[in-house]
Formats: sequence, C-alpha cells, structure tokens
Amino acid sequence: MSVERLAELLVERQPCVVLTGAGISTESGIPDFRSPTGIWRQFDPAEVATIDAFLANPEKVWEFYGARLGLLADVEPNDGHRTLADLEARGLVLAVVTQNVDGLHRKAGTREIVEVHGSLANAVCLEDGTRVPADEVELPVPRCPRCGSVLKPGVVMFGEYLPEEALEKARRLARDAGLLLVVGSSLEVYPIAALPEETLAFGGAVAIVNRGSTSWDGQAEVVVDAGAGETLRRLAELVA
Ligand code: NAD
Repeated sequence: MSVERLAELLVERQPCVVLTGAGISTESGIPDFRSPTGIWRQFDPAEVATIDAFLANPEKVWEFYGARLGLLADVEPNDGHRTLADLEARGLVLAVVTQNVDGLHRKAGTREIVEVHGSLANAVCLEDGTRVPADEVELPVPRCPRCGSVLKPGVVMFGEYLPEEALEKARRLARDAGLLLVVGSSLEVYPIAALPEETLAFGGAVAIVNRGSTSWDGQAEVVVDAGAGETLRRLAELVA
C-alpha cells in the first residue's frame, strides 16, 4: 500500500487527527521503547517507570529521567514533526494526539496537541499539584517549592491513570476523525491503543505509518511500513 493512497485519504476523509508515538521521534535521536534499540532493552521499566518504583526510590527514578532530560535539551524536531505542523497550518490536520513526552511537536510548531502521557517539560507535586518547569528541577531528588514533598516527573508512569481531560479529548477527536493517521506507534499501550476502535466505530478510516507491524494493520485502510520523516514529507508533497 502506498503513500499515494494515503494522500487521497488525507484529502477525502477530513478532518484528520494524527496519533503519534515514540517512532516519530527516533529520527531526532530519541530511542523508542520496544524496538531492538529501544529504552526497555537497557532499563527495566519495573525499576524506573512505575509509580511504585518512584514512591519506593525517587532518587533512582529521577536518575533515569534526569538522563532523559539531559538528552532532550539537545534534540530538535525532525521532518516528521515539522511536516505535521505544516499540514496543520494548511488545514489538513486538525490535531495531534501524542504519547510522547518529549515536547517536539510543540517545538516544531503544531498548535493543537493533546499530550496523553504528560510531558517531561515539568515536574509535579503529588501532594498539592504544583508544577515546576524542568529547567528549575534540582536533582538528585527535587522538592516542591510550596510544601517540600518530593516532585514526580510530569509524565504518566506505569500504574498511574492517564490525565482524564486529555484522554477524553483524545477519544472525542478520534470519534470525530474522518481519518485517524497513526505515526510511529506500536499501538501496544492502552488505553491509547484503543483509539483506532473509536474512529472505526464512528465511520472514520485508519491509516498507519510505522516501521514494523501493529495489531491494527488488518483494519487499516492504508499501512505504510517505512520511516516517518520520509513518508510524511512525501505525503505533504503529494497534497501540495
Ligand atoms: P513503541 O516503542 O511501543 O513503538 C514505536 C514504534 O515506532 C515501533 O513499532 C517502531 O518500530 C516504530 N518506529 C521506530 N522508528 C520509526 C521511524 N523512524 N519511522 C516509523 N516508525 C518507527 O512506542 P509507542 O507506541 O509510542 O509506545 C507508547 C509509549 O512510549 C508511551 O508511553 C510513550 O510515552 C513512550 N515513549 C515516548 C518517547 C518520547 O517521548 N519520544 C520515547 C520512548 C517512549
């Protein structure tokens, strides 16, 4: 199946909502989680990415996220992020729902973004909800400037609920989408992996741009197994 067919769908099945995962950011140098070079081949998520691990040993968890923050300071959006911002500006993308916590869609200029797994851009106090910008966080164990409790990275950890407002907005967008375009996600992490079901149930179509297969490939109108940057760039040219 082809990018040409994807371009037809993008024009015919408006509005288009894009769902992105870690695969759109690998070309910026940020490893994904589950592929052979992914983060979970190096770290055990049970030790660094669960809320229980954080409560038991915040210093160890902050060591992991501190390293990720250091990496993020130097990364830039790639063609994939930039093309989605361009398509939004041209009225062909309504919103980007992202599982990523790296802030690169915002940096690329996308305006309508739903960050369903939170963001590394800030840390949050579990006691009083205070948010502190990441560049003001002091390691090894940052504390709330108001109440002194330990701050948690502003991302959703395993064992935590997703932010209700963001999740509801993502579901609404998926239901209203004429086309849900999934980019760079293995679609293994629920409840976000269920968004294609919402789109299909309400008569929309699903398209997938991802290296490797996903469990939704069989129900997608188009599947492009290729790099996100080159595929989106070509897509934008075809609809110019
Ligand atoms: P995932 O690792 O499960 O899947 C990423 C998919 O993208 C894989 O199928 C991989 O083969 C594919 N891929 C890798 N590079 C690609 C490229 N250049 N072009 C096209 N496809 C490519 O990631 P997911 O589905 O996003 O899983 C969700 C979890 O990953 C979320 O919890 C999210 O917060 C987290 N995560 C985020 C970041 C980030 O913010 N950049 C990085 C790692 C993980």
